[in-house]
Amino acid sequence: MGKVVRCACGMEIRNQDETQLISEVQQHASEAHEMSLSDEQVRAMMQIDE
Ligand SMILES: [Zn+2]
Repeated sequence: MGKVVRCACGMEIRNQDETQLISEVQQHASEAHEMSLSDEQVRAMMQIDE
């Protein structure tokens, strides 16, 4: 079972690998929103992908 992060803009980012998911979300936040998120902030946004 993977994890999913739903961004405020409606983008859903999924990955089985938590480390990769964190870096994908950080990249999206930086490119799309000019936001820099810490690993902890991304973890707080994660939900189980069902
Ligand atoms: Zn977004």
